[in-house]
Amino acid sequence: MEKLALLGGDPLKTKPFPEWPQYDEHEQEALLEVLESGAWWRTPGSRTKAFEEAFAAYHDARYGIACTNGTAAIEIMISALGIGLGDEVIVPDFTFVATASAVLLHGALPVFVDVDRDTYCINPQKVKAAITERTRAIIAVHLAGHPADLDALQEIADQYGLHLLEDCAHAHGSEWKGKKVGAFGKAGTFSFQQSKLMTAGEGGILLTNDPELEILLRSVHDCGRMPGEWFYSHFINGGNYRLSEWQGAILNQQLSRFDSQARVRSANASFLNENLKMIEGITPQFYDPRVTRNGHYCYIFTYEPECFDGLPTQTFIQALEAEGIPTQASYPPLHALDVFTSGEYLKRLLPEHAAAQKPFRDEDFPVTEVGFRNTVWLLHRTLLGDEQDAQEIVDAVRKIQRQAKSIR
Ligand SMILES: *Cc1c(COP(=O)(O)O)cnc(C)c1O
Repeated sequence: MEKLALLGGDPLKTKPFPEWPQYDEHEQEALLEVLESGAWWRTPGSRTKAFEEAFAAYHDARYGIACTNGTAAIEIMISALGIGLGDEVIVPDFTFVATASAVLLHGALPVFVDVDRDTYCINPQKVKAAITERTRAIIAVHLAGHPADLDALQEIADQYGLHLLEDCAHAHGSEWKGKKVGAFGKAGTFSFQQSKLMTAGEGGILLTNDPELEILLRSVHDCGRMPGEWFYSHFINGGNYRLSEWQGAILNQQLSRFDSQARVRSANASFLNENLKMIEGITPQFYDPRVTRNGHYCYIFTYEPECFDGLPTQTFIQALEAEGIPTQASYPPLHALDVFTSGEYLKRLLPEHAAAQKPFRDEDFPVTEVGFRNTVWLLHRTLLGDEQDAQEIVDAVRKIQRQAKSIR
């Protein structure tokens, strides 16, 4: 009789998924070249600069400014736009903390809104309802690689005179109506941390089409310097957020193999979309027809315990892992993080802004709660295999459904 791996049976998956990160002799050679060039930092180097240009061009943007990581990229963007004390920025409740912490770092309040039931991306109706006199910007997060509704968000931004910004940490290569994400609004940010779709271990980049903003972003990222000016002239308040040449060299190679990886991920994700939706109690993240490519930082589906003999989501995930299907944890709602529930965040705000703040309440974010409790996130390397690998994901879910009773 078939037995779940969680209960000591044989794991369904015997052939391992591809490893992550991926590299070959191209990365090795590129690193050696940097070593021997003696130019290990960006300022005199050529690799990070070349990467900025190539990545921006790939994403249909005019300018790219590489930086230390994806969190720093958002901080730089907020700083360069002059968003700070007394201001508010609308962010989804369902994202990584950096989307909000980068706003708070500058003394502006991240205002959380719930996400869309189908895509788990920021809900434009909720954005509209959250706008106040203090609102300066909206940050869209393209969750798991699926772009937020950029049409609706841009319309709201235009109507209220706000900046539309994109946190694309999940969305390298994602497209909205045939155009790559990152420069739809005023600016966008990406991460190259190890779990992302391209990586140098750590790293980030900002994209924009606005020449004046490009100068400010670059200046903030390089100690407030300005192009062509003396090294020790500092015109605005910045920091050192420069990406090293080692990382630039690696990222040039990662970009060159990105398209072929993205094709494999897309094919496997389509297969999963078709096959997982046939299983009662499994609903893949909705695929908006305006999304012409999804980078697939993760593959997300919603899980209904009732269709699995009441097996809690966490136990289902343990059973899936035991069968050899790796996952990563879903994000807890931002409003429920200690930094916000304890009131610690108020220390960053103007006193009168802090005094006007009401505590965050759970019932305001029902969809994020479902996302946190009932979604399963498959790692993107599970999409880098062949059709047999994808079929085995489906088989593992079916196996757990058949045997759910045996766990309880
Ligand atoms: C990873 C991530 C970031 C931050 O990127 P780091 O490079 O890790 O600092 C920001 N936003 C989202 C949505 C992320 O997933």
